[in-house]
Amino acid sequence: MFAHRFLLGLLFLCQAAVAHAGGPDDDFVRDLAAVREEAYVTPKEALRRLDALKAGRDGRELGEVLVVASRAHWWLRDKDRALDAALQAERIGRDTHDDVLLARAMLSHAYALSKFMHDQQAARRLIDSAARLADSTHVTHLQTQALVTRALLAEEDGDTADSLEFATRAEALARAGDDPDALSMALRERARLLASVGSYKEALALTDELIRLARARAIPAQLAHARLAEYATAARAGQLRRAETALQAAVDLLDKLDARERLPVPLAHLAAIYVQARRYGEAERVARKALRIAREVGDEDAIRLASFQVGIVDICFRNIAAGRATVDKALADLVSDDQYVPLLLQYGHALNQVGEGDVAMTVYEKAGAVSLAAWRKEKQLAYETVQRAYADQKKQNDLAALHHESLLKAAELHNVRRLRSLWALLAAITLAAAVVIALLYRRVAKANKSLQQKNEQLFLQSTRDSLTGLFNRHYFYEQVVPHHHRKAGPGSERRAGAEGRTGGVFLLMDVDRFKSINDTLGHGAGDVVLKNVAARLGATLREQDVLVRWGGEEFLAYLPGIGADEARQVCARVLAAVGGTPIVLEDRALAVTISIGFCPKSLDAGNVDPDWEQLVHLADLCLYAAKTGGRNQAVGIGDADVLAPDVTAAADANLQQAAAGGLLTLVNVPGPGQAPRKLAA
Ligand code: GH3
Ligand code: MG
Ligand code: MG
Repeated sequence: MFAHRFLLGLLFLCQAAVAHAGGPDDDFVRDLAAVREEAYVTPKEALRRLDALKAGRDGRELGEVLVVASRAHWWLRDKDRALDAALQAERIGRDTHDDVLLARAMLSHAYALSKFMHDQQAARRLIDSAARLADSTHVTHLQTQALVTRALLAEEDGDTADSLEFATRAEALARAGDDPDALSMALRERARLLASVGSYKEALALTDELIRLARARAIPAQLAHARLAEYATAARAGQLRRAETALQAAVDLLDKLDARERLPVPLAHLAAIYVQARRYGEAERVARKALRIAREVGDEDAIRLASFQVGIVDICFRNIAAGRATVDKALADLVSDDQYVPLLLQYGHALNQVGEGDVAMTVYEKAGAVSLAAWRKEKQLAYETVQRAYADQKKQNDLAALHHESLLKAAELHNVRRLRSLWALLAAITLAAAVVIALLYRRVAKANKSLQQKNEQLFLQSTRDSLTGLFNRHYFYEQVVPHHHRKAGPGSERRAGAEGRTGGVFLLMDVDRFKSINDTLGHGAGDVVLKNVAARLGATLREQDVLVRWGGEEFLAYLPGIGADEARQVCARVLAAVGGTPIVLEDRALAVTISIGFCPKSLDAGNVDPDWEQLVHLADLCLYAAKTGGRNQAVGIGDADVLAPDVTAAADANLQQAAAGGLLTLVNVPGPGQAPRKLAA
């Protein structure tokens, strides 16, 4: 034992010597890492080395040492020192604004809070803050440690799935960061968790890797730790041979390291294995050794376990009463231990082996009852977990439903808005259309009006003669003929009554020797004369008489409602109006006369109404007679009633002859200064 410790001390000195060959910081970091790995296996030795490392250091380095020291105290179950060291380190981390240190210290603090104080909430808060800090530092070991600590806490809460998840993340992180110590830590945790859920094969593969890593790292404590992990996993897996080998190897290593604090429990387990293999001598040896060392280091849990095994061995050696007393005493304090039921089973098995079947039966029954209760508790826990998960799920579903609903509402609102803007657009378009239509309508109305004016103008132009302003021949055909010279019909009677026996007279008037005016005074003077004559004719005739420029210097007048006698008077007035007063030109006064031929029309019942063209033609014949008779006079047919078709035809052939033959009477009206002449009757 002394030799081992001496050798270790020597090794430490050598390490320190080698370390001093490199940079001082490198040495410190490496030494601290080694001690960190040893803290679990040889915590007291680790504390001694930490004391040496601490000398002359402050700030971050002192803090780092304190963090590892806290862990070592923890493994020694010295909660006051563990907490104290963690708090000191935390304070230094805060004071020096060192996030890595602070996070490590917080994790140690949390660890102590959880395991010793069972203050899971405070522990969780600390771990969360530490994890956030760790993430910001990008230090692999620290980040892995944070995840592993979270895994442990989750396991403590009975949340195995979360715990495994954290451990898996820790492993991945450590692999990515290429940190073997971090990886060892993660693998150990994950292997343990996998074994606890029955994934033995996977768990054992991890412990294999753990052992390889420890060998490569050449830290014996780490290898011992790895072997212990292998043992625990193989034991759970029921691989007793492998468990025994691993445990034996671990115990040998721990022995060599003089890891007195870590030795008793594995030794007790080894004793149990030997008992099962009926190697009672070896069992007794290791059980007593376990008890001795446990007592030496003052590890109460280990003392109970070791004395239990000593009692079992006593029973096996048929020292039944003493053995049972020892076992019962040990079990009384192991009720809340994880191993309680397996220990009861081992107890029962031992009793059975020595023929104490009845007592064995009560022990088995107790084991059954305890495990049933544990199973029920576990089931209750599982049920509560499911309930919680269900409640969470329901909350999430409700949230999702709410979210969905709000999305629908938003879409609906969007649609309403779209519809509203569509309506607004429609209204705008309608308004614009109305405005356009109104504008177009106004333009059309304007165009219509101007068209109407143009039409009226055109009508005027087409019906009036531009020189004299009188209606033209076209107007006569369009407007006068249809009103006054329809063929006889029912309406004709009434008008005939109103107009007397004769229906009216056609007067055809022609300026005398007008050509010579043109020829001697010029065309302009001729125009003036024409205008003047037209004006005098218009002024002489009545309102209801129709006067048109028939052509060149010829005018036609239709005088409705008068007979041949009245026609003569009108002719006299007209002849006087034109020929009575000379027409005043620019440089002279010109005596102008006209000749008139007229023909009355009759609407008497039974009489045939002659065609108006026929009547105008007869008036023309009369005009010719007036011309040949000396001009400045009127000649007309004295009685309309005689104008039967045969008379008309005869007059047409030769007016003078028809008159001479007594078919009709020609009357003559002399113009001013003209002597009346006797025409053939
Ligand atoms: P009569 O007494 O036999 O009617 O003789 P006249 O010279 O009047 O007869 P004629 O029919 O031979 O001549 C008519 C002339 O009137 C011929 C033509 O040049 C002229 N004339 C026709 N229209 C116009 C017009 O608008 N202005 C002018 N200045 N002359 C016109
Ligand atoms: Mg003429
Ligand atoms: Mg003439």
